[in-house]
Amino acid sequence: MECLKCYNDMYLHYVELKIEREDYNLELKKIPGYVCTECKETYIEEDEMSKIFETVEGLDKNINNIKQKKL
Ligand SMILES: [Zn+2]
Repeated sequence: MECLKCYNDMYLHYVELKIEREDYNLELKKIPGYVCTECKETYIEEDEMSKIFETVEGLDKNINNIKQKKL
């Protein structure tokens, strides 16, 4: 795996991902991904990303349910 920014080698490692939404911030840890040996850029593969998006979609739905009450 080659870094998209500096073209150096990347190695498999756990990475962290922060997702900021309107109603919550989600900080995911220990996601298997790639880290650049030089610039520390991280890359998460499509398979993991699509599962992360599914998770966020589920959270969004549940949080909308929580917010049903009219203020
Ligand atoms: Zn790099």
